[in-house]
Amino acid sequence: MRLQQIVKDERVPRSFDPREIISTWTEKDLLRGKVADAWVIIFRTRGCYWARASGCSMCGYVNDVAQEVSAADLMHQLDSVLARHAGQPLVKVYTSGNFFDDHEVPPDVRARILRELGDRCDKVIVETLSHMLRRDQLENAMSFVDALEVAFGLESTNERVLRHSVNKVWGLAEHARAAALCRELGATVKTYLLVKPAFLTEREAIEDAVASGHAADPHSDTISFNPVNVQGRTLVDRLFRRGEYRPPWLWSVVEVLERTRDLSAQVKSHPTGGGKARGAHNCGSCDRRAIDAIEEFSLGLRRDFGDLDCECRDVWRAYADVQEFMLTSADPLALIPD
Ligand code: SF4
Ligand SMILES: [Zn+2]
Repeated sequence: MRLQQIVKDERVPRSFDPREIISTWTEKDLLRGKVADAWVIIFRTRGCYWARASGCSMCGYVNDVAQEVSAADLMHQLDSVLARHAGQPLVKVYTSGNFFDDHEVPPDVRARILRELGDRCDKVIVETLSHMLRRDQLENAMSFVDALEVAFGLESTNERVLRHSVNKVWGLAEHARAAALCRELGATVKTYLLVKPAFLTEREAIEDAVASGHAADPHSDTISFNPVNVQGRTLVDRLFRRGEYRPPWLWSVVEVLERTRDLSAQVKSHPTGGGKARGAHNCGSCDRRAIDAIEEFSLGLRRDFGDLDCECRDVWRAYADVQEFMLTSADPLALIPD
């Protein structure tokens, strides 16, 4: 069976109230080089069109979307969340999809979201697939906000990884075009890259992330390395349940960050589900320290990881070596009985 069909078969649509947002919270991020409060709003939409057609192998967002969401529903979601603004200067608008997909976020809704949030916040961040971004949309968006950042899920710059592991058919060429458009019109660019997509060994994953970071650097103002976390009803989940996938070690994330410190873009990582079996993790006893260090690095509060160590670092090295020797990306620790 082709990868695209396997990914699609894992998905099970559920019903949700289309008038309710998925979630909102406040977290720390960088704004003009300083740590600031960032307001995160996840709108419930009909979701990413690519997830409906097939979808990325690690993405479970489609499980959170509603089957159909009207413009009136989205306006209601916006009204319900605006009252919860507590002075955060930065706002991140996510839709579990593409902010610049006119079918997902109709143009008049998009304009109102940007106007309302642009009135309240200094900077607005939105997310979209690179090939969906059109000049007229971005010109219009820029008229409502002081500062706009567009985030793109590039995931990797290696075409084979994109096609055979991530199940994405757009790559660096589309990203570079969209990034050039953003910069021409005054927006900044955030690039998401994966650490350890499906079927890659630990070592291949590190090398892929480091190489992708360097290749994407000229087309990025910020590069965020996303360690893959195992989301329910995805291809990665299916591999995980069979002992054929382990999320990346936090040591791998640390190595990627160390080896991309030379980039011009600001480099960061926020390991979702970090320290848990389904997120990037180490041995358990050093996970908290490693995650804190990665978060500090991402906020510009530390420059390196020289003070970080644990006995499991040797296990991590051995793990990566054994995978090469076994000629498999399966999780060696899950295959060896206690
Ligand atoms: S990762 Fe992004 S592009 Fe891929 S299916 Fe999920 S929302 Fe769509
Ligand atoms: Zn450890």
